[in-house]
Amino acid sequence: MIGSLLIANRGEIACRIIRTARRLDIRTVAVYSDADAQALHVREADEAVHIGASPARESYLVGEKIIAAARQTGAEAIHPGYGFLSENAEFARGVIDAGIVWVGPHPASITAMGLKDAAKKLMADAGVPVTPGYMGAQQSASFLAEEAAKIGYPVLVKAVAGGGGKGMRLVESEDDFADALASCKREAASSFGNDRVLIEKYIASPRHIEVQVFGDTQGNLVHLFERDCSLQRRHQKVIEEAPAPGMDSATRAALCGAAIRAAKAVDYVGAGTIEFIADGSGPLSADRIWFMEMNTRLQVEHPVTEAITGVDLVEWQLRVASGEPLPLAQHDLAIDGWAMEARLYAEDPARGFLPSIGKLELLHFGDAEYARVDTGVHEGAEVSSHYDPMIAKIIAWGEDREEARERLGEMLSDSAVWPVKTNAAFLVKALRHPDFVSGKIDTGLIGRDGEALAAPPVPSDEALQAAASSLLPVTAMAGFRLNAAPARAALFLLDGEQVEIGLTGQASEKPTSGVLVTEQGQAWLLSPWRRDSAPGGAKGSGAILAPMPGKVIAVDVAQGDVVTKGQKLLTIEAMKMEHTLIAPFDGVVAGLDIAAGAQVQVDALLARIEEKDT
Ligand code: ADP
Ligand code: ADP
Ligand code: MG
Repeated sequence: MIGSLLIANRGEIACRIIRTARRLDIRTVAVYSDADAQALHVREADEAVHIGASPARESYLVGEKIIAAARQTGAEAIHPGYGFLSENAEFARGVIDAGIVWVGPHPASITAMGLKDAAKKLMADAGVPVTPGYMGAQQSASFLAEEAAKIGYPVLVKAVAGGGGKGMRLVESEDDFADALASCKREAASSFGNDRVLIEKYIASPRHIEVQVFGDTQGNLVHLFERDCSLQRRHQKVIEEAPAPGMDSATRAALCGAAIRAAKAVDYVGAGTIEFIADGSGPLSADRIWFMEMNTRLQVEHPVTEAITGVDLVEWQLRVASGEPLPLAQHDLAIDGWAMEARLYAEDPARGFLPSIGKLELLHFGDAEYARVDTGVHEGAEVSSHYDPMIAKIIAWGEDREEARERLGEMLSDSAVWPVKTNAAFLVKALRHPDFVSGKIDTGLIGRDGEALAAPPVPSDEALQAAASSLLPVTAMAGFRLNAAPARAALFLLDGEQVEIGLTGQASEKPTSGVLVTEQGQAWLLSPWRRDSAPGGAKGSGAILAPMPGKVIAVDVAQGDVVTKGQKLLTIEAMKMEHTLIAPFDGVVAGLDIAAGAQVQVDALLARIEEKDT
């Protein structure tokens, strides 16, 4: 077994790898950027090496710096985690050439599966069914439009080098094709440095079902069953579970068999995932499930597989990388119960899921039984705009799906983060959505009910009343009877908005100046109202601020334009994603002083919407 390991990653996955390494008595080395000097993974590792400035391309994506850090600390092996350099064959080769153990598959396997078009061709040759579509080299807009028409709308345009749900556009009709193609190619070029696309038939009621595979250097290859990751938002996984609802044993055998064939075709070693798309318009059946892509690394959602199989996948990775055979054979593996994972993000569903950056003044996770929290942050840490704003993965296990689902909901409801906004309430609502409850999930569920799911939760009257009383001095409550129905109301500020709260009479001996109300996975700051703290009315100021540092890539309105609530104003590209800023209410565009191409800082005033004079 290797004696030391450098983790070429950050956040929760770096912490998770360190945990297993420590249990196996392996010395751990973290690497970190400027922004991560105080990060949890740095604190938890035995040693840490600073590798550069905050932007990933100056630190976590610079292979030479990471290899140098391994040499400097004498680390015997490098684990890449997921994202960053994990699927970079050149980096893997560099690690091996430096005489360091690479915790991952052969570089050739990464290359073979690296581009979606080449991977699909390879899989088709290996007898694995692939999604129908065009995956050739011809890339002119007119040619691709013809191919799309041949495939038949709706189609999906996909960057061949894409990942993380980026570089993908659903096109419903011919009229939208040219725009979608241009925007997809633009995103692909800037995110992946490769603007080639493929076109796929868009599968009706799609379900994302993937199979965990594992190979060793002795030629053994097993699968660890499937995961269902159909609950997605904009092609990104939100909640994952294992096993897949409605999977019968014959379909499972066929699917997992296809996954093994796929892995064998690239001589796979280590942990990998074969992703399939299934037609969810009827019961699952093997002839309606197609290969989509292979991820040649550990997957974000691997803990649900660990929860139902009892296997520590990182331990297996380290054993296999050390030359040991797989600890278990196929017939030793079985499914025990059900597991579900939710990705808790620092983002604001009410504002189009914009990342919510800042200091985590309050960070609390519920502690339901049978739950696991994988996090990379601690209370007091900053969520920066440099990286993926994931706060934690919360994983719950149960005897059956219902139990896992309830435990996960409970765990999320009992969590509280402040002042950074999170998607916790959104996740709880998604878990309680009647279609999710009944297992009728496809990747469009969130899109269909997005508005209701993303609506900001409001604290209950009981929670507000309890908090309000602790803010008011006893004298102000004179004449109130304990536990009586609210007899009088007072004004407060709830996250800066004026609210009236009925007082129940449980006044505080020592009133505080502000109190956090925590409920439904959310936290709100309640403070006494003062004349000088009155906010600018319910509608807000109409100021359109840059939610994070980034580049303006499109301006859709002009000074003086009349706009309606929800209308698209500008698009900013930040954190490799396009974010659309919309009009908060009906009005007129004023103070628009920005053009496409401009680089903007967080909170820069981009425009102002003024209410129309009536
Ligand atoms: P999964 O299927 O495991 O969710 P994804 O393809 O969504 O995998 O990506 C895994 C993680 O890596 C995600 O958190 C994503 O944001 C991140 N990621 C993807 N591509 C990159 C990249 N080029 N650089 C840094 N992080 C990335
Ligand atoms: P990425 O590399 O970004 O993970 P994938 O090819 O795995 O890209 O696709 C991401 C998601 O997009 C899938 O999980 C699925 O929800 C959706 N998707 C991909 N291909 C199709 C398709 N042909 N039909 C319907 N949905 C699809
Ligand atoms: Mg994928």
